[in-house]
Amino acid sequence: MHIKEIELNNFKSFGRKAKIPFFDDFTTISGPNGSGKSNVIDSILFCLGLSNSRSMRAEKLTDLIYSVNGKSPGSADVTIRFDNTDREMPIDQDEVTITRRIKSSDSGYYSYYYFNEKPVSLSEIHEHLLKAKISPDGYNVVMQGDVTRIIEVSNFERRKMIDEIAGTAEFDEKTDKALSE
Ligand code: ATP
Ligand code: MG
Repeated sequence: MHIKEIELNNFKSFGRKAKIPFFDDFTTISGPNGSGKSNVIDSILFCLGLSNSRSMRAEKLTDLIYSVNGKSPGSADVTIRFDNTDREMPIDQDEVTITRRIKSSDSGYYSYYYFNEKPVSLSEIHEHLLKAKISPDGYNVVMQGDVTRIIEVSNFERRKMIDEIAGTAEFDEKTDKALSE
């Protein structure tokens, strides 16, 4: 399974509808500083609910909505189209789509998730992703600055990161929990 296309509407710097194609094996995005490369990565984290707004470099989720001179359309959405021809996600469809939309209001913002265009909850999205071995708590994206951070942290912190990546951290947690009972 791989991402075929990302569609962005009013997400961060993408004020106009943008469709970004991805290839089967390897895709590079290049462009000048501030042109929106990292915003594309943020859109993946946002759409799949893989992180909080801080790691998407936004104070609050409404900062993810495109705005110029304080004017904002009030909503944003990102759709990821997955190629599922290898049936890695156990659904008998060649294409699987996940959409997340946020709408801001006076009382805050509201998030809406869709799986194949049907409204679902975030936990349902995560259940589907888990079936394709994408763990929402996993180390899915190497963010800008992560490589230098891994070099700079203490040995203990680095060991913790490796345990997370290797997937053994969750068993350590379960062991601790069992021992404390
Ligand atoms: P670099 O090469 O420096 O890492 P980049 O291509 O990764 O740059 P991004 O960080 O993706 O660039 O994009 C930053 C740009 O996105 C900034 O110009 C910023 O103003 C713009 N931006 C972020 N949030 C919004 C928003 N809500 N509305 C409009 N523009 C936004
Ligand atoms: Mg960047």
